[in-house]
Amino acid sequence: MPESTIVEIDAAARRLVAFIGDLARYAATRDDALARRSLCSPFSGLSNLDARAICVVARRGVVEAIERERIPLGHDASLASRRFARALGDLERAYRAQGATAREHVATVALAFELDATVVPAERAALAAAEIVAARYDAERPPGVAWEADELVRALERLARDARTADVETPRVPLLIREPEEPRIVKRRKAHFSASSLGTFAECERRWYYRYVCAAVEDRGSSASFYGTAFHWALERFHEDVPRADAAPVEVLERKLEAHLGTAFERFRSGFETNVEFELQRRRAKRTGRRYVAWFVERARAHPFSVIGTETSVELELDGYNFIGYIDRLDRDDATSAVTVVDYKTGSIAETADRYREKVARFLDFQLPFYYWARTNAGDRVTRLSLVPLKDASRDVAPIELEVVPFAGPRGYGGGAVGTIGIDELERARKKMVEIAASLADGPLERFPVTSDPEACTYCSYRLACRERPTRLEDRFGR
Ligand code: SF4
Repeated sequence: MPESTIVEIDAAARRLVAFIGDLARYAATRDDALARRSLCSPFSGLSNLDARAICVVARRGVVEAIERERIPLGHDASLASRRFARALGDLERAYRAQGATAREHVATVALAFELDATVVPAERAALAAAEIVAARYDAERPPGVAWEADELVRALERLARDARTADVETPRVPLLIREPEEPRIVKRRKAHFSASSLGTFAECERRWYYRYVCAAVEDRGSSASFYGTAFHWALERFHEDVPRADAAPVEVLERKLEAHLGTAFERFRSGFETNVEFELQRRRAKRTGRRYVAWFVERARAHPFSVIGTETSVELELDGYNFIGYIDRLDRDDATSAVTVVDYKTGSIAETADRYREKVARFLDFQLPFYYWARTNAGDRVTRLSLVPLKDASRDVAPIELEVVPFAGPRGYGGGAVGTIGIDELERARKKMVEIAASLADGPLERFPVTSDPEACTYCSYRLACRERPTRLEDRFGR
């Protein structure tokens, strides 16, 4: 049914329209300034006092600070802040989803912030008008062209400016009823790239498509993934307290890490399916934690160093493409001031230094090359890359360590945990990162082939949806 709406909006309703526009721009850019402005809006779900407290405390970004629960808030404010951060994540994923529309953005904002239930009548009229403006903008776009946040914001600004005289006539279509779409080429927006997203693409383009283009729902995570999340969380806090191994006797360090692990596991308790699973993983982490402390102390005795960063956010622009990520730990050597990039691995890990080099050479792992270039670009002299295994409580912690040299020798297939990696190899990885980013950003992309390696599918979240996945020989009769 066509519906005619004459819009009259007051100042508060204009703020609502601005809020919707800010969130659209945030979804497109993840700009922290927009997240802060949205947080301080009267529609964010938080009181002005709490919103400002978060803005003051959040150094690296408000969403990150909320997710890591760095801000001392009351129970209700804490829940509201997490709802806010989750809403921003939903909007971002919705923006990047294939076939997404501007109208869906407005509807998602309304749902995520429960605007229908909380706003006053004038604001409700503004919300309806914003939805109509967004629907009209969708209808006017050529087929196959993705909606752009800036264009929606300009349309909303016109709405706010001309509101009193706006007479908008647009059919209102129930949100969940869709016409079948014609197949069309996916147009990927320019965005930030993470090393792990490039690694996903290199391993299986179909998986990348499911995760980053469709924003497909993944499973909620396994006990193993929550074990990893809790361990990372605990180590971050442990090294904020203990940047040097000589800060206290080893028993004290063990107790400190154990306390942080205890807190971390309680925090992520709901991620474990049963109490038994929770208890098993917690005990595994405690035992691994003791081995970690032993390694930390021993290493510092041999080569004294300080931890100079934990969960350090890094950004790097390469040939016009932006890459982002977090480095688990950065160490600075006392004697040489050289920096080691440390990555914790709570899952499977390359068995030798040469095996890891092999993965880099085959473009299956971009993480350490990216961190190397990001920190080098920031002025550090990075001389070592280290992967620290935290999976097996029955073995001593023995990292894979790669010393960065101008040219490394040929790769072998034996070898130990310590080896070298050439700057020429890191440079090849850097060029490949740009190449993949360019193909993803500048598309259009027409097809996303499945991997040819059935091993890559073993723990893939999209196994059930992915009919073309390769099968192992032994599984062929089963399908
Ligand atoms: S199941 Fe295998 S082929 Fe399919 S998306 Fe996952 S990794 Fe790729």
